[in-house]
Amino acid sequence: MSFFEVFDPAFKSFVMGNAPVKNLAGGFDWTEGPVWFGDANCLLFSDIPNNRIMRWSPGAGVSTYRQPSNFANGHTRDREGRLVSCEHGTRRVTRTELDGSITVIADSYDGKRLNSPNDVVVKSDGTIWFSDPHYGIMTNYEGYKSEQELPCNVYRVDPSDGSIEAVLTDFNCPNGLAFSPDESKLYVADTGRMFGSDPQHIRAFDVDASGKLTGGNVFHVISPGCADGFRLDTDGNIWSSAADGVHCISPNGVLLGKILVPELVSNVCFGGRAKHQLFITATTGIYAVTLNRKGAVLP
Ligand code: MG
Repeated sequence: MSFFEVFDPAFKSFVMGNAPVKNLAGGFDWTEGPVWFGDANCLLFSDIPNNRIMRWSPGAGVSTYRQPSNFANGHTRDREGRLVSCEHGTRRVTRTELDGSITVIADSYDGKRLNSPNDVVVKSDGTIWFSDPHYGIMTNYEGYKSEQELPCNVYRVDPSDGSIEAVLTDFNCPNGLAFSPDESKLYVADTGRMFGSDPQHIRAFDVDASGKLTGGNVFHVISPGCADGFRLDTDGNIWSSAADGVHCISPNGVLLGKILVPELVSNVCFGGRAKHQLFITATTGIYAVTLNRKGAVLP
């Protein structure tokens, strides 16, 4: 079988026809939030319903990195290489310091508790941007069922003074988010309440030098499935979760091709020796495929 579906000839040069989509590990309940630590040669990812963060490394396989994880979901690294995590259970975003201690980045806005931070990115100026839909407090499956106190916004935190600002307030449910490699664009998915006619698209915002956002038109509609999580390569192509695998979307919003994955995909990240591998979290498993592309990620 082929692991790829090509819609644009350009996509043929992005993939290698003989590179498999490999299942690296399985037996989880809902994997999410992959993040690559090149200096430790390992991948961290969440197994949200089992309240744990797992570690996978080539040769060594899978071990538990943190349990309980406060039902952690999305992760990223800041510019100093520290782990930044969204936690449903504690309704907060945290940073894991190099000595292992935990610093709370944000847990409230305007005197009210956040919903359940979902996905997070760090800009080169150190500011931390995260989505706060209510998925993690809707049931006890991926957190603790609780009352929603705030709309589902996107926030920016400046860790130098702890200030938090609601930068996007017109979403149904913001989810995956990522900057373009030159940080002139911020892409944010709206995945709705996961019912029928709710939006399943990615919006694109222009980012000015001060970090202010303008625009926000629908950039691409994901089908089938939703943009739960995505990351970009160094040429600005978006590699996004979808129901049938990973969709590769050009900087113009055109679907170029798909990586077919046998389970529902939640998120992706680039990593590996040359940042040329795409790690994929998909329901009960994690997968990887080597691409002829390089991710816009830290060393
Ligand atoms: Mg997500």
